[in-house]
Amino acid sequence: MNAKILNGKMLSEEIFLTLSNRIETLKKSHEFYPGLAVVLVGDNPASRVYVRNKQKAAEKVGMKSELIQLPSNTTQEELLNVIESLNLNHDIHGVLVQLPLPKHIDEQLVLQKIDYEKDVDGFHPMNVGKFVLNEQSALPCTPFGIMTLLKHYDINVSGKHAVVIGRSNIVGKPMGLMLLKEDATVTYVHSKTKNIEKYIKDADVLVVAVGMPHFVTKDMIKEGAIVIDVGINRTDDGKIVGNVCQTVSEKASYLTPVPGGVGPMTIAMLLQQTVDLAEQQLTKRQG
Ligand code: NAP
Repeated sequence: MNAKILNGKMLSEEIFLTLSNRIETLKKSHEFYPGLAVVLVGDNPASRVYVRNKQKAAEKVGMKSELIQLPSNTTQEELLNVIESLNLNHDIHGVLVQLPLPKHIDEQLVLQKIDYEKDVDGFHPMNVGKFVLNEQSALPCTPFGIMTLLKHYDINVSGKHAVVIGRSNIVGKPMGLMLLKEDATVTYVHSKTKNIEKYIKDADVLVVAVGMPHFVTKDMIKEGAIVIDVGINRTDDGKIVGNVCQTVSEKASYLTPVPGGVGPMTIAMLLQQTVDLAEQQLTKRQG
């Protein structure tokens, strides 16, 4: 079997085009410019690349985007004050704090400080709660991007056994919940799972968010499995590789490439949710 490639790059381009049109309409009809603020603390090289990519995409769709770069010795209080001023800024409709934060800052406290109506990442407890209760909310962008990609390729996960490797708050945990909402039977596996191979082998849908290059190999998966590789790892020679060995394509039915799969979809969902939030704030102000 040769896996069909789930082309996140191509789909993200289509989404960017739709967003450009929505933004153009908002500008023309309301003189309204959706604005995204990205806060970066410290100089983590991977975070800098992610932030640059998000900004480039925002500019491409015609969105106003502001980067607030703070030194790694920024205190928690200083960061909370920056967020407070973004919460009050009517030109900013989406606020994103790039994770991870330096160790001396309480991540949860910072995420809770963001006005939940501007929380484009869907990490605020209010949005997490709404999401769990099936209410409308901003969603964590990476799993949301994966679900959008699956829908685009008409992949129905209902009744399938979905195995999610990883249980982080930003990827693994919400991923499993989104698959559950679409009626998959979900198993989470993590670093304490015994006999992990048994679960991987049984997966009809396998989402790999483990953070280790080439963790899943061809011999580990079921014939015909749908394999989603969330991982982004940089090799010593500067190449980007995923958490899955790309030779699984000889056995899987569908596979996301790295790069060009989940990464661009994450950015597309971030911008889409910024425009959604901007429209909601405009309606609220007008009402
Ligand atoms: P994370 O917070 O480090 O979580 C990794 C998860 O993997 C944890 O739940 C951990 O289990 C589990 N794990 C670690 N070693 C394991 C093992 N030997 N066997 C089974 N499970 C194991 O990472 P993350 O933030 O979720 O990100 C995961 C990957 O996705 C990374 O490569 C990251 O770069 C990538 N990522 C990509 C995007 C994108 O847009 N494409 C976005 C975000 C993240 P425990 O909970 O037990 O420790």
